[in-house]
Amino acid sequence: MSKTFYITTPIFYPNAKLHMGHAYTVTLCDIICRAQKIQGKEGYLLTGADENTGKILKVVEEQGQSVEEYLSQVTENFKDLYSKLGISYNQFIKTSDKEKHWPGAQALWKKLVDAGDIYKASYTGLYCVGCETFYTEKDLADGKCPVHLTAPEQIKEENYFFRLSKYTQVIKEKIESDELLVLPQTRKNEILALLERGLEDISFSRPVKNVPHGIPVPGDNSQVIYVWCDALVNYISALGYGRDDELFQKFWPADVHVVGKDILRFHAAIWPAMLLSAGISLPKSLLVHGLITSGGHKMSKSLGNVIDPYELIEEYGYEAVRYYLAREVSPFEDGDMTTERFKESYNANLANGIGNLTSRIMKMAQDNLDAPIVITEEKNMSEYFALYDTYEISKAGDYVWNEIKFLDQYIQEHQPFKLIKTDKEAGQKMISDLVARLHRVALMLAPILPETSEKIKTLIKENKVPETQLFVRKD
Ligand SMILES: [Zn+2]
Repeated sequence: MSKTFYITTPIFYPNAKLHMGHAYTVTLCDIICRAQKIQGKEGYLLTGADENTGKILKVVEEQGQSVEEYLSQVTENFKDLYSKLGISYNQFIKTSDKEKHWPGAQALWKKLVDAGDIYKASYTGLYCVGCETFYTEKDLADGKCPVHLTAPEQIKEENYFFRLSKYTQVIKEKIESDELLVLPQTRKNEILALLERGLEDISFSRPVKNVPHGIPVPGDNSQVIYVWCDALVNYISALGYGRDDELFQKFWPADVHVVGKDILRFHAAIWPAMLLSAGISLPKSLLVHGLITSGGHKMSKSLGNVIDPYELIEEYGYEAVRYYLAREVSPFEDGDMTTERFKESYNANLANGIGNLTSRIMKMAQDNLDAPIVITEEKNMSEYFALYDTYEISKAGDYVWNEIKFLDQYIQEHQPFKLIKTDKEAGQKMISDLVARLHRVALMLAPILPETSEKIKTLIKENKVPETQLFVRKD
């Protein structure tokens, strides 16, 4: 079995405001990666920003801002959110990085050329500025972009094309056989249906006048590499593809690309085709997560249902946000979040759940045990951690909170604090067993609530009741 684990977030647009969707994706990746590291693998979590997008930088320049300053601010904003969420990532790749990213993008382009998969043609297409994508008639919904619901512009350009059509069949076979595993099944079906209809060759470059900040096509400075082609390469350029192979050899192929369902087509069709053309192994899997809705609707300013991750972190602490995203949202479906539900779940599962349980057990331990209990080895954690191998994160959450509930009931029924008065030895044994099981809970919590996990382990080591509640109840 492989000793490394490589996981990626999509690279995000340099939006001014980061939202719950960003928080969800990176938290999910962080939890998955931590679980693999706990199981002994060398984990590598890559994230980054997609900065060569024409439209955003155009706006920045029109507003008279410096593009460089703008992009460095964007990076700071992302890193700030990651740090507030307790995300442990290995690298933040920026596609504007001429030393790290550009050599990889250009090296890959040359491979596509060598394979005979790049050709020049005049192209007239329906272009959505919002998506920075050409659409075919059949992709449109009532003649409009399915994402933005606006009519695309008709654009005629001289471009380089990529022979995507050539790879339709082989990609289909690899997805059908799960050699490229697409999760969940609904998304696998969706992409297979798309492949069934066939892929068309796609325009893979743009005139430099339209995208002045893009990566030049090797050998033709009048064209830049199409932003999606450029963006997808981040997954290997970050590892040194095209400049220094060491990390690339070590971590590629990726174990999983975590993506939102809106970018499934790029990751399950275009990216595998590029890799096949270049003779590079395909990633092992794509985990396609849903949207975070609020009250059943997409979060939007006009509906007034936007939940700000920063505000939640401020009020409840970052682990509360991690908890909610891990347990109350399934990675395989859309997940809903309202401030009411958040608070209810916080009180029930964190304040009254793990918080109270820790206080109860450690109070009994502190008062009645002569010394801290010594944990030698934990057994039978594999069933639990296997849930992370298949990305069943919310089930993993249920597993831990079932154990918490069980321990609560056990204390209720057996009342060790009474038993100790009539039979000291039996009482101490029961309390020690409870502390040992609390230690197991702490280990299980590590991917989701890393700080609380450490706190509980320390309390057990010192045989102490927490000085303050782990999670303070909110009214
Ligand atoms: Zn669009």
